[in-house]
Amino acid sequence: MRYAEPESVEAALLALNAHEDARCLAGGASLVAMMNAGRIAPEMLVSLHRIPELFTITEASDGIWLGAMCTHRTLAADTRLGGAMEVVRGAARQLAHPAIRNMATLGGSIGLADPRTELPVALVAASALAEVAGPHGRRSVPVEALFVDSHRTSLQRGEFVTRVFLPRGAAGAVGHHLRFSRVAADYPTVSVSLVLHMEGDTCQQVRVVVGSCAPVPLHLDAADQRLIGTRLEAEDVAGAGGLLAQAAAPIDDVRGSAEYRRMLIPRLLGRALSQARERAHV
Ligand SMILES: Cc1cc2nc3c(=O)[nH]c(=O)nc-3n(C[C@H](O)[C@H](O)[C@H](O)COP(=O)(O)OP(=O)(O)OC[C@H]3O[C@@H](n4cnc5c(N)ncnc54)[C@H](O)[C@@H]3O)c2cc1C
Repeated sequence: MRYAEPESVEAALLALNAHEDARCLAGGASLVAMMNAGRIAPEMLVSLHRIPELFTITEASDGIWLGAMCTHRTLAADTRLGGAMEVVRGAARQLAHPAIRNMATLGGSIGLADPRTELPVALVAASALAEVAGPHGRRSVPVEALFVDSHRTSLQRGEFVTRVFLPRGAAGAVGHHLRFSRVAADYPTVSVSLVLHMEGDTCQQVRVVVGSCAPVPLHLDAADQRLIGTRLEAEDVAGAGGLLAQAAAPIDDVRGSAEYRRMLIPRLLGRALSQARERAHV
């Protein structure tokens, strides 16, 4: 196996595109575990650790750019990620355990596209955009469009994520992430990420995304629409939760059966909405 430590995005692209089976190495939390387990054996590893621009966080008037090599720990600690953007901070704060949060990165979470993980769910709820660098330059793409199947993204060969843009969202919008796991630090059985904007007691805008219940983060426009314009009464939440449960394609595994996961969706949604609502009034 070959190994490179390029010091710029351009040099990383050259290394990635010089080999048929080259992979980026970010935190290594999952990639190295998969290599150790003999599940993958890349011909070339391109470490992103020496590329300064991938670690930067830049504020703009309408949002924040986060470098792909920002760790979960960095995101969890950044108090600028407030309002709607808090959904990403909340997910980063709660997921896994400190060792993983210290190692694993934003870009690695996107590249891995593991349906059990939570950062992708939160990024889709936040309407995040990814900047992708490739042999033909850089392009911006909604993060939602990157997830096409379990462990599969729409990134083309030789492309990687350089940074992610989180829009600030409407004034007064609140982002919230809620996970349900068998024990602390385990992957969640179900997770819910949402961004909620209330006007008085009425839901003005909401974007709900469910994790661990489909090959990709589950976002259903009809579920959002079922909540918008309502006072988020129990029947509204049950209606939206029912739509999401119906659209879900969960698996049976050690963390819960598909049936159990479907049952949890409306309950977690109700809890997440009421917690977000409380925070909106603080
Ligand atoms: C024991 C364990 C427990 C975990 N528990 C949870 C949990 O409870 N909740 C949760 O949400 N997540 C959990 N995770 C996943 C974790 O949050 C990360 O998503 C994951 O480890 C990948 O991050 P990484 O930076 O280590 O990526 P790596 O392991 O380095 O890479 C993962 C994949 O992404 C690709 N990649 C890396 N960087 C980029 C980039 N910039 N652009 C495109 N592709 C890229 C790599 O080539 C590789 O294919 C857990 C992981 C482990 C190992």
